[in-house]
Amino acid sequence: INSPPNCGSGSIPEIKTTQQKSFVKNPMSDPHTIDSELLQKLVYDALVWSSLHGLVVGDRNVQRSGSIPGVGLVHAPIALLPYSFPESHWKQACELAPIFNELVDRVSLDGKFLQDTLSRTKKVDAFTSRLLDIHSRMLQIGKKEDIRLGLHRSDYMLDENTNLLLQIELNTISCSFSGLSCLVSELHRSLLSQYKEHLGVDFRRIPKNNSANKFAEVLAKAWMEYNNPSAVVMVVVQPEERNMYDQHWLSATLTERYPFCIAVDSSGIGIQDSIPWLVLLPCQMDGIGIQIPSIRKTLVEIDAQGKTLSDGTLVVDGETVAVIYFRAGYAPNDYPSESEWKARLLMEESVAIKCPSISYHLTGTKKVQQELAKPNVLERFLDNKDDIAKLQACFAGLWSLDDSNAVKNAIEQPGAFVMKPQREGGGNNIYGDEVKEMLVRLQKEGSEEEAAAYILMQRIFPKDFPTLLVREGICYKEQAISELGIFSSYLRNKEKVIVSEQCGYLMRTKVSSSNEGGVAAGFAVLDSLYLS
Ligand code: ADP
Ligand code: MG
Ligand code: MG
Repeated sequence: INSPPNCGSGSIPEIKTTQQKSFVKNPMSDPHTIDSELLQKLVYDALVWSSLHGLVVGDRNVQRSGSIPGVGLVHAPIALLPYSFPESHWKQACELAPIFNELVDRVSLDGKFLQDTLSRTKKVDAFTSRLLDIHSRMLQIGKKEDIRLGLHRSDYMLDENTNLLLQIELNTISCSFSGLSCLVSELHRSLLSQYKEHLGVDFRRIPKNNSANKFAEVLAKAWMEYNNPSAVVMVVVQPEERNMYDQHWLSATLTERYPFCIAVDSSGIGIQDSIPWLVLLPCQMDGIGIQIPSIRKTLVEIDAQGKTLSDGTLVVDGETVAVIYFRAGYAPNDYPSESEWKARLLMEESVAIKCPSISYHLTGTKKVQQELAKPNVLERFLDNKDDIAKLQACFAGLWSLDDSNAVKNAIEQPGAFVMKPQREGGGNNIYGDEVKEMLVRLQKEGSEEEAAAYILMQRIFPKDFPTLLVREGICYKEQAISELGIFSSYLRNKEKVIVSEQCGYLMRTKVSSSNEGGVAAGFAVLDSLYLS
C-alpha cells in the first residue's frame, strides 16, 4: 500500500469538532484550516492527477531529465487549491489582451521608435545591442513581415493599497506555461468538484483555461497562412530544457491531440493555392486531417543545418520552415558563441513567420515598456481613446534613471521601487536596499551610461494570503502572493487581422518573502484562480 505523501513544514492543523473536520467554511480564504486527513487526500489526488495528465517537468535531481523526454519526470510545482481573485479585475485583465496585441503590432512597425528608445541601452548592454543590430539590418534591407504572429503574456499584480490591477510586464518572446497552466486549472476544477462536499465551493468559478489549445490553434493558423502543406513549425529550444513538457504540449496538440482538417467545399478536398475557404475544424467533421509537423532545434543546430533559398525560404535539416516559435533566444546565455547569433540572423532574414520577429521581441523590452508609459506616447500608436485609457489604468509608475527626481525618491525609499535591467526569465531585478546602493554607486561614479541599462519601477505590493504549495510531493503551508498572466495571440496577414484574442491564463504563486516570481527558476508554483 502506498501511503499518502507527507505534508511538510508547519504543524498539522488542530481538528476542533467533528463538524469542522469535514467541512471548512471557506477553505479558499484559509486553506491552512483544512484538516490534516482531508489535506493528505487532496495532496495525494493532486499528485496522481498531475502524473496521469502530463502536468510534469523534468526533475532537477535527474541529470538527463532536461535532454531526454520520459526520463526523470516530476509533477510541476503547484498550489494545491486555486487563488481567490476578484472577478472584476479578472475581466479587466482579459479585456486588455487584444489592446496590448494591437499596441505591440503598431509599435513593432515603428523601427525608428524602437531604435531611438533603446539607443542608450545599446551602449551599455551588449545583448540588447546585438538584437538592435539585427533589427537595424532588417530596416536597412527594407525587410517586411506581412504575416505577423505574436504569442504574448501580460503579467499583472493586484496592488493591495490601491486595489488596482497593475501590469508587471508584457512578454513577447518565449512565454512559458501555456502548455501546463491549462492543466492546473483542470486539476483544480477536478479537485474542487471531487471534494465539493468537504470544501463547499463551486468548481465552475475557476475560469476555463484553454491556453495550450489556443496557442496551438494560432500556430496552426499561421502555418496555414504560410500555405505550404509540407512545411513545418520549428520550435527553437535550449539545449537542455526541464520545462520541455510545457513546450511538447503545444507541438503534440498540433500533431496528434487536436488534428486539424481542411474544410471540404464542393470543389473537392485538399490544400489549394487560394485558401480563403480553409478553416480549422476538429477532425471528426468531414474532411481530411492535417497533422502539422513540428521540429525542435537549438540555435546551434539551426546555424549548422539551416539555410535560406534565393526566395527567402528557410530550410533547416531538409525541412521547409513555415513558422519559427522561439522558446529560446531571449537571454544572453542562449548566445554563448557567434553561431547562435548567426542562426538568429538567418531566421530573421528568411520569409518564415517568426514568433516573435526581432521587432516584436524588442517591443517587449522593459525600456520600451517604460517609454510607452510616458505621457502622450500611447497616442502615437493607438487611435481609440478608451483603449488608451484602459492601458494607462494598468501602468504602474515607470521611470528612466535619467529622471533625477525618481532616482532621488528611490534612494530615499528603496523599498517602494524595483530596479530592472533589460533581461527576461526572472532573477535579474534589484530590490530593497540594493536599489539604494546601486543608485548611489551610479551617482558617485557618474556612470550615466551604465544607468541606461536599467529602469525604475514602482514596487507593487499584492496582499499576501495563506496557501498550500506542493513541490516534489511535499505540501508546504506558506504565506504567498500571486501574479496573474494573461496569454494572448495575434495573427495578421497584411491588413487582415486573423486572430487577436485572450488565450487563457497563468497564475503564479510565490512565497511572499521571495522577490522574484519565476516557476522554472524555482521561486514560484503554478496556480489557477477562483473568481470571488
Ligand atoms: P522577467 O522578464 O525576468 O520575468 P519581471 O519584470 O517579470 O521580469 O520581474 C520578475 C519578477 O519580479 C516578477 O514575476 C515579479 O514577481 C517581480 N516584480 C517585477 N516587477 C515588480 C514590481 N514592480 N513590483 C513587485 N514585484 C515585481
Ligand atoms: Mg519577462
Ligand atoms: Mg516576468
